[in-house]
Amino acid sequence: MKTRRLGRSGLQVSAISLGTEYLLNEPRDHAVRVIHAALDRGINYFDIFYAQPDIRDTMGVAFRGRREEAMITTHLGGCVENGQHAKTRDLAISEHYFHDFLRRLETDYVDVVFLHNCDEQEDYEQLMDEDGLLGAARRYQEEGKARLIGFSGHTVATSLQAVESGAIDVLMFPVNILGNAVPGRRDLLDACQTHDVALVAMKPFAGGRLLQGGDELRVERFLVGGSDVSVRRTNAITPVRCLSYILEQPSVSTIVPGCRDVAELDAALAYWDATPEERDFAPLLAGFAQYREGECVYCNHCLPCPSTIDIGQTMRLLDAAQRVGVEQVRADYAAMPTNADDCIACGECEARCPFGVEVISRMEEAARAFA
Ligand code: SF4
Ligand code: SF4
Repeated sequence: MKTRRLGRSGLQVSAISLGTEYLLNEPRDHAVRVIHAALDRGINYFDIFYAQPDIRDTMGVAFRGRREEAMITTHLGGCVENGQHAKTRDLAISEHYFHDFLRRLETDYVDVVFLHNCDEQEDYEQLMDEDGLLGAARRYQEEGKARLIGFSGHTVATSLQAVESGAIDVLMFPVNILGNAVPGRRDLLDACQTHDVALVAMKPFAGGRLLQGGDELRVERFLVGGSDVSVRRTNAITPVRCLSYILEQPSVSTIVPGCRDVAELDAALAYWDATPEERDFAPLLAGFAQYREGECVYCNHCLPCPSTIDIGQTMRLLDAAQRVGVEQVRADYAAMPTNADDCIACGECEARCPFGVEVISRMEEAARAFA
């Protein structure tokens, strides 16, 4: 299992982790088996957002004796109504469910307390108030009951404000191939980089839709992180390709695929043994109508370059420089053994790029920007 830095916390997190939402209605021994399999395979980050007592008790059993192997999360603002998960902004109710989580998980602390599911401006202002849930999360941090504060949402507008507020260490946001061209998403990812906020990518398979059959893919906005999506399915979509796309996006610390069983877990973790062809997500992007021709997706299909330039990384840094300023990424650019200055304008990359990117002029831009 490869690990990545969890933003400014400096903690190392498994690059592919586990969301536990599909274990909600599974028998306890089944759910425990999935968690143990994940731990045994090196996963050390588990998102646990449900507030229902049964799943919390099950997680308590699963992590008994293995708590120190894992980072676990809870979502402040989650509660139960009529036996189902619900959202609340009531401080007393939220506090009750937070302490209920600690008790049922048989632990003194959570690694990340997420401010749960915020997509509207009014809700954002209420949530991020010192007298609201943010204040409670900070208090838990001071008391040693929470190591990091996170924010979960599905729209760029509120998530971007949270990242820029300086109040959060971790953002949980949908990142999947269908949302590639969601307006503002790149700004959000770049903001995570600028503020060193760890990005936890949720909905990697768009709630499973990406892996279902049929010619037509219809996906609602909250699964994509933007507007509703409807596209023709034209290429083989696999878990490995979906994860490969996400791991190439800037700022992503970890992905939390929800897995129903060990077979689904292993299908996701097959990424680590996959060949470059099996990881190749470019044909998927080409089939999605939202994708804008001429925009680099950092896939490096244009290599090899006779000057050994890492073209995808150069493009990524140029895009970031244009969004957040050259100084933010200058050190990363300087660390590359060859860069845009070394481009000899041979054009070989442009002939290979499936997306019509004008690499030579972009290299000239990069050379000017980082001069
Ligand atoms: S220029 Fe084209 S092939 Fe190269 S990294 Fe960008 S999108 Fe991929
Ligand atoms: S045009 Fe520049 S970046 Fe592209 S392959 Fe040639 S030298 Fe490399």
